[in-house]
Amino acid sequence: MNNLAQLKQRVYRANMDLVKHDLIVLTWGNASAIDREKELVVIKPSGIEYDKLQPEDMVIVNMDGKVKEGSLKPSSDILTHIELYKAFPEIGGVVHTHSCFATAFAQAGKPVLPFGTTHADCFLGPIPCTRFLKDRELADYEKNTGKVIAETFTSLDYRTIPAALVAGHGPFIWGRTPEESVLHAVTLEAVAKMAFLTITLGREQCIGQKLLDKHYFRKHGKNAYYGQEKNK
Ligand SMILES: [Zn+2]
Repeated sequence: MNNLAQLKQRVYRANMDLVKHDLIVLTWGNASAIDREKELVVIKPSGIEYDKLQPEDMVIVNMDGKVKEGSLKPSSDILTHIELYKAFPEIGGVVHTHSCFATAFAQAGKPVLPFGTTHADCFLGPIPCTRFLKDRELADYEKNTGKVIAETFTSLDYRTIPAALVAGHGPFIWGRTPEESVLHAVTLEAVAKMAFLTITLGREQCIGQKLLDKHYFRKHGKNAYYGQEKNK
């Protein structure tokens, strides 16, 4: 099996895992992956019900969004995914969902703040919400959705905060692989739900920077020590 065939399998699995984790309503979501060497993106086809989806249905497009392999139309969000791959050179997968709590924050135009260590285990700071797109930006809607996310990360590190909320729309999440992107999407929804409940219970203050750093860096980076030693 060549790399692209493998990538189609992995992207299919990532899309099905979004359903398994209850992040998808109807067909509102998609996962993709990129082959950086070939500069090709593998993504779910548009509007196909998940129970009918097959690995071979995944569509391969180039960096202009042109279909290179597959008989189905790619997900309508393909140009957003491509903008993210262009803006964030170290990512290998992108996920988009309309998961309930993350989308509620996006609709409110508010970031998800780090209220606890569950957040800090995955995100080194608030998960930002973009500005609302201007009417004139809607002419090139999907591409500008990607651009407004990139703009939001001008002074943020996409590697330590692997998600953004698009104002009035919903979350886009990424990772080094499609599998990691799904994991980040699951975590985002969990921490958005916890944040919503925390605010409801009357606390709006984040945890301190030291505790945030402690939890993030014990799992990430060269001094990470959480979990089992990897086989050398
Ligand atoms: Zn959407």
